[in-house]
Amino acid sequence: MMTTINNGRQAGKSKRSGELLAQKLRAEGISTPQVLKAIANSPRHIFIPEILAHKAYDNTALPIGQGQTISQPYIVAKMSELLIANGRPNSILEIGTGSGYQTSILAQLTDKVFSVERIKSLQFQAKRCLRAMELHNVSMKHGDGWQGWASKAPFDAIIVTAAAASVPQALLNQLNDGGRLVIPVGEHTQILKVMTREGEYFSEQQVEAVRFVPLVPGELL
Ligand code: SAH
Repeated sequence: MMTTINNGRQAGKSKRSGELLAQKLRAEGISTPQVLKAIANSPRHIFIPEILAHKAYDNTALPIGQGQTISQPYIVAKMSELLIANGRPNSILEIGTGSGYQTSILAQLTDKVFSVERIKSLQFQAKRCLRAMELHNVSMKHGDGWQGWASKAPFDAIIVTAAAASVPQALLNQLNDGGRLVIPVGEHTQILKVMTREGEYFSEQQVEAVRFVPLVPGELL
């Protein structure tokens, strides 16, 4: 069951909560105005199970079913900031739609978002939430994120919201020149990396230690 956001009181409450969350993230070092604005505008409570709604604006990851989690707001904001650090991308590829919360932030930072998820039921819920927010610039695909989305490539920016054992070659191939891939890499210990395409070369920046669910290869659910 999803909470409606068409109810005036509910929407007003979430707006205030979103603004408070954005203020918290600013205090933690998030400084890109477009990202803070998107966080302030997004009703995170609609993306999580109703029973956890009272925790929706806490700066924590939460379970969303199917053994998956909605990422911590700080990390959503940090990854978004890294993605747009070189300017506004024309399009963004996201791997791991999950709840769709990160997707909703990305949709406010670019013209077009392409998002791939391997668990059909999560994708279905995420679609409903984005529709409720009236974000119509997102295309979704049920598929294996290791393969990216070749028919829509190249992308100015790619974000992976699950931890990959290694950087998927297909994603590097689908980056525009100058484009950036933001991805957590590793199994037990994970590090958030930014890979930037410079012609046929890729530069690598290591940002900080993170904890994500794994980017699962193969078989779809
Ligand atoms: N950004 C999401 C994070 C969800 S957790 C949010 O904040 O809600 C990571 C998601 O990646 C899960 O939904 C999981 O099903 C998905 N995932 C894992 N491996 C995948 C793969 N190979 N291809 C596509 N999606 C994958």
